[in-house]
Amino acid sequence: MSDAGLSETQRDVRHAVGAVCSAFGDDYWLAREREHSYPHELYAALQSGGWLGVALPAQHGGAGLGIGEAMIMLETIAESGAGFAGAQSIHANIYPNTIAAEFGTSKQQAAWLPGLIDGRIRSGFAVTEPTTGLETLKLRTRAERREGGWLINGQKIWTSSAQVASHLVILARTAPPSDHSRSSGLSLFFAPIRDAPHAPGVSAQQSALRKGVEMRRIEKMGGNCVDANEIWFDDFEVEESCLIGPAENEGKGFKMVLHGMNAERCLIAGEALGLGYAALIKAVKYAQERVVFGKAIGGHQAIQHQLSRAFIELEAAKHLVLAAARSYDAREAAVGAQANAAKYFAAEAAWKACETAVLVHGGMGYAKEYHVERYLREAMAMRLAPISKEMLLNYVGQSVLGLPKSY
Ligand SMILES: Cc1cc2nc3c(=O)[nH]c(=O)nc-3n(C[C@H](O)[C@H](O)[C@H](O)COP(=O)(O)OP(=O)(O)OC[C@H]3O[C@@H](n4cnc5c(N)ncnc54)[C@H](O)[C@@H]3O)c2cc1C
Repeated sequence: MSDAGLSETQRDVRHAVGAVCSAFGDDYWLAREREHSYPHELYAALQSGGWLGVALPAQHGGAGLGIGEAMIMLETIAESGAGFAGAQSIHANIYPNTIAAEFGTSKQQAAWLPGLIDGRIRSGFAVTEPTTGLETLKLRTRAERREGGWLINGQKIWTSSAQVASHLVILARTAPPSDHSRSSGLSLFFAPIRDAPHAPGVSAQQSALRKGVEMRRIEKMGGNCVDANEIWFDDFEVEESCLIGPAENEGKGFKMVLHGMNAERCLIAGEALGLGYAALIKAVKYAQERVVFGKAIGGHQAIQHQLSRAFIELEAAKHLVLAAARSYDAREAAVGAQANAAKYFAAEAAWKACETAVLVHGGMGYAKEYHVERYLREAMAMRLAPISKEMLLNYVGQSVLGLPKSY
């Protein structure tokens, strides 16, 4: 990706993060995918550089920058060849924390944010459920009040990085929706899921899951170095202080999630861009080197135009994503339209770039050693999650264009 359109700070972030990522080459990522092993080394390198706190407040040890800079960081990670999987391993610690930083009490922020920045606390985001899908308001996980805290029962699915997380952000129903607001009655918790999650020298995986939590890793199509899980909560006890925000925030969890979702759309859009550019870089190199019928295949318009089109679409997506992130950081009302449009367009542009990269490689595009088939598999996830392209189009149709609700 070119630096065009980036602020000076964003350029600095890009160059510094690019330098960290340069220690992790294609072979590293191929091995992580093959072995289904978490990229702990990248995580440690970015953590020691202070990058996990890129968008968290300076008073707690963060860099105090915005979602625009966090997005550039994730784009750069993905573009380095780490792809969506590499970015996702960091993403899990960026996005849910924007919720704690925005809505947590000062006591909660002091308890959580320093640990999230220095890597003692690692989070995951548990919203999706198997039976209710995108209809989040119907979710069935319940949190019931009990002496000194809450008892959580229910099931989540697709929770990423839970195998290495010490805590989960959990959305659960604490009361039925009210007559005035369908989205009321859901509450958000930041709960430790492991015993002694902060013990020095004990990694999350080494410490046992707390009573009432069980999980199972899901076998999936791509991004296999980052786990996705089914999670069961069975009378899982959570302390009073785990409810994010002051006590009045009980029942207002969906509002908080929505705030975080716009940030997540921007971050995922950046990751999609990075993945698309990674694929384009590989494809251009191959098109320059591969000689068939006496000339480099990049000299044929059928090949060259596909690559040019992929570049144009990625650059267009970049400007949409930058605008969405600016809108989020400036707290503009239009952020929803911008963030949804950016996520849609960047994911589609990335998919097209990855598909083009495989086709330009011919048969070798199908071979793992050329990396682009891995990128294509990862690109599919970005069209599905955290929100599908159909739901993004529904949002634009209804909330931006003013058309009737279609579902
Ligand atoms: C790799 C990966 C990582 C993930 N990580 C997390 C995570 O960390 N935490 C988390 O909580 N979740 C996570 N998810 C879950 C993800 O957010 C959901 O899969 C996604 O929101 C779609 O929900 P669903 O799978 O239940 O689809 P469904 O709701 O079952 O939808 C199925 C299909 O129907 C379409 N559809 C549904 N309703 C409508 C409608 N009204 N109009 C038009 N089309 C419609 C959808 O667009 C989709 O194509 C992850 C998923 C993946 C694949």
